[in-house]
Amino acid sequence: MQVPAPFEYARATSVDHALALLAERGEEARIIAGGHSLLPMMKLRLVRPELLIDINDCVDLDHITEDGDTLRIGALTRHAALLASDTIGRLVPMMVDAEHVIADPVVRNRGTIGGSLCQADPGEDLSTVCDAMFAEVVIRGRDGERTVPMDDLHRGPYETAVEQDEIMTEIRIPVRPGAGSAYEKVERRIGDWAIAAAGVSVWMTNGTIDDVGIGLTAVGLDDGLATAAQDAVRGRAPDEDLYAEAGKLAAEQCDPVDDQRGSATYKRHLTAELTTRALRRAVERARTA
Ligand SMILES: Cc1cc2nc3c(=O)[nH]c(=O)nc-3n(C[C@H](O)[C@H](O)[C@H](O)COP(=O)(O)OP(=O)(O)OC[C@H]3O[C@@H](n4cnc5c(N)ncnc54)[C@H](O)[C@@H]3O)c2cc1C
Repeated sequence: MQVPAPFEYARATSVDHALALLAERGEEARIIAGGHSLLPMMKLRLVRPELLIDINDCVDLDHITEDGDTLRIGALTRHAALLASDTIGRLVPMMVDAEHVIADPVVRNRGTIGGSLCQADPGEDLSTVCDAMFAEVVIRGRDGERTVPMDDLHRGPYETAVEQDEIMTEIRIPVRPGAGSAYEKVERRIGDWAIAAAGVSVWMTNGTIDDVGIGLTAVGLDDGLATAAQDAVRGRAPDEDLYAEAGKLAAEQCDPVDDQRGSATYKRHLTAELTTRALRRAVERARTA
C-alpha cells in the first residue's frame, strides 16, 4: 500500500506550540521534520498517526553554533546544511564524510539530524557519528528539558528515550583539542544504506591517543560503540598494527545478520577493514589539524 491512511496536519509555530499539540492528542500525534523516514512508513501503513505536527517553522531548531567547548546543532538542521558547513568540516570531519554518502540530494535537502536520531534505524549513519563523538541530545517536554547521552538515547531499533510528549531540540558535541575523526562506509550503490560502516574519533597529545570513540553502523552492535577496540587503542601510540588490532576487536564485538545486503561473514570482514581505515584516517587528521 503506497497511500497513507487519512491524517490531520498542523503546522507548529513554536516548540511550545508543538508540545501543546502533542500533549492534547497523545498517542495519535507524531512530529514530522523532513518526512523522509516517516512518510514512507505511513505509505506502507507501518504507522498511522492521526495528526502530523510539522515543526518546520520552528526556526530556533535550525542552527549550527560553536559555543565554547560545545558544538550545538539544532534538531531541525538539514543533512545538506551539515554537509556544507565549514564549522562541521573543521570540528567533526567524520560528519561530512557521512553526509557525502547519506542518500541523495533530494533526501539531504529535507532530512534532518533530529529526524535521523529519532528514527533510530540501525543502519542510520548520523547516530554512529554522534555515538563516536560522545554527543548528548537535548529533549524538551512541557515541564522543561533534559540532556541524554547518546548511549542512553537508543533503546533498540526504532525506539528512543524521546517520549511521546517530547521533542528533541538539539545535539551537543564536545569540542576538545587534538581531535581527528573519519567515517568509512560500504554500500551496494551510491546513496544506499550501509552494508557496514565505521565512524572513529580520536583525541591526541604528543603522538598518543588519549581518548577514542569507535562507532559501527548496521552490524548489530549494542549501544553503538566498539568498547573492546576503544580500550585497546586508548593510551597507545598509533601504528598500522594498532589500526589492525582495533579492526579485529571491533569485528569480534559486533553481531551482524545475513540479509539482502550481505552475509554476516562479509559484514564482519567489512567491519574490521572499515574500522582500520577510519582509525588510520582519524589519526592523520588529528596530526594535521
Ligand atoms: C531513499 C532514502 C535513502 C536514505 N538513505 C540513508 C542513508 O544512506 N543513511 C542514513 O543515515 N539515512 C538514510 N535515509 C534516511 C534519512 O536520512 C532520514 O529519513 C532522515 O534524515 C530522517 O529525518 P527526517 O527529518 O526526514 O525525519 P522524519 O521522517 O520527519 O521523522 C522521523 C521520525 O523522527 C521523529 N522526529 C523527527 N524529528 C523529531 C524531533 N525533533 N523530535 C522528536 N521526534 C522527531 C518523527 O516523529 C518520526 O518518528 C534515507 C532515506 C531515504 C528516503
